[in-house]
Amino acid sequence: MKILVINAGSSSLKYQLIDMEDESVIAKGNCERIGVDGLITHKVNGYELKQEASFPTHAEAFEKLVEVLLNGEHAVIKSIKEISAVGHRIVQGAEIFTESVIITPEVIEKIEGIAELAPLHNPAHVLAMRACQKVFDKSVPQVCVFDTAFHATMPKKAYMFGVPYEYYEKYSIRKYGFHGTSHRFVSHELASLLNKDISELKIITCHLGNGCSIAAVDKGKVVDTSMGFTPLDGLIMGTRSGAVDPSVLTFIIEKENLSAKQLSDLLNKKSGYLGISGISSDHRDLCAAADNGNERAKIAIDMQIYQIQRYIGAYTAAMDGLDAIVFTGGIGENSPFLREAVCKGLKYFGVEIDKEKNVVRGKTENLTAKGAKTQVWAIATNEELLIARDTLQLVSKTK
Ligand code: ADP
Repeated sequence: MKILVINAGSSSLKYQLIDMEDESVIAKGNCERIGVDGLITHKVNGYELKQEASFPTHAEAFEKLVEVLLNGEHAVIKSIKEISAVGHRIVQGAEIFTESVIITPEVIEKIEGIAELAPLHNPAHVLAMRACQKVFDKSVPQVCVFDTAFHATMPKKAYMFGVPYEYYEKYSIRKYGFHGTSHRFVSHELASLLNKDISELKIITCHLGNGCSIAAVDKGKVVDTSMGFTPLDGLIMGTRSGAVDPSVLTFIIEKENLSAKQLSDLLNKKSGYLGISGISSDHRDLCAAADNGNERAKIAIDMQIYQIQRYIGAYTAAMDGLDAIVFTGGIGENSPFLREAVCKGLKYFGVEIDKEKNVVRGKTENLTAKGAKTQVWAIATNEELLIARDTLQLVSKTK
C-alpha cells in the first residue's frame, strides 16, 4: 500500500510517497510559492526535478505533484489509484483532537473552528485538505495527524497558565505543546531499541531544530512539554525567543510603541539565536562564529545549552526519575558539540556520554558511556513515517 503524506503551509506543500510494505520513501518533494507563481522540487532515488509551475491555489499544486508522480522518465506510479490514502500533518488539534482521525466534513469544520489558535497553520491545512479532496477520488481516505495530540495527556497542573481561569474557558488559553509527532516517534523508537515496553520508561525527548521543544514522557505519556499555547514558548530557538518574563513584553511594547503584530514578529522572527547573535538563526553559523571569537554567538549557544539542562532537571523532577534522554531534530541529530555540552552538566542525573560514539550525525546511535546510569541516544526523527503509519492503521480499521 502506498500512502501520500502531506505537510502543507500557507504557500507550500511538502509531500512524501511512502511504500508501507517496507516503509521506504518512493518519492518526495515540495511545491512552493503557492499563490505567487509556483515551483516544484521533486526527488526520486537521487534524481531531482526542479520546475517552475503555476500554483494559484493548493489544488494546482496537488495536480502537479500527482502529474510528476505519474509521468516522465522517473514516474513512480502508473495510476493515481495506486495511492491508497493521504495523511495530513495538522499543527493544532486543541482539546478536540487528542488522536489521529479520518477526515470528514465535520473534522475539517472543527479544524477551521480552531484556526484562531494556529492562524499561520490551520487555515493552510484546511486549504490543502479541500484541494486534496478535489484532486483525489472521494473513495481515497484522508487522515489528520496532529502535532498537539501526543501532549494531550498532560495534567492540568502542567498545562494551565497562571492567568484568570476565565481565559481558559473563554479562549481556550492553555499549554498545548507541539512537535508531538516527533516526540512520539523518538520515544517509541527508543523503547523498541531498548527492547522495553514504553510503559517501563521515563524519557526526556529533546527535539532541537529551528524550532526546539522538550517533552517529559513518563510511561509513554507526556506529562509536560516546553512549548506552550503556541510554538513560541520554552527554549530559545533559531528566530524565536522562547520563554520571556511577560513584563518584558509589556515594557518593550510601551518603549518601542509596538502593535501586537509587531511584537509577535519580533518574538517569532527576530529573536532567539538570530536576535542574540545578530548574525544568524543557524546553529552551524553560530558555532563557526563562536569558534572565531564572536562573543554574542557564544552567548546564544550557551543560553540554549543552559536552558536544555534546566528543562532536563525540571522534567526529571516532574517524572521523579529519568531512564533516558533522546536528542533529535537538525541540531539534536547533528551536533555532537551541543549534545556533549548539555550532558556535561548532568552528571548528577547519572548522565555520561561516550565521546567516540557521540561523533555520529544524522543517524540513530546509543551515546551512553559504559557504566552510566542514564541512557543517552541520538535518534533520527521521522514524522512523515509516523503520519503514514497512523494513516495506515486508521484506514485498515475502517476496511
Ligand atoms: P526545522 O525545525 O526547520 O525542521 P531542522 O530540524 O532541519 O529545522 O534543524 C535546523 C537546524 O539544524 C539548524 O540550526 C542547523 O544549523 C542545524 N544543523 C543541521 N545540520 C547540522 C550539522 N551537520 N551540524 C550542526 N547543526 C546542524
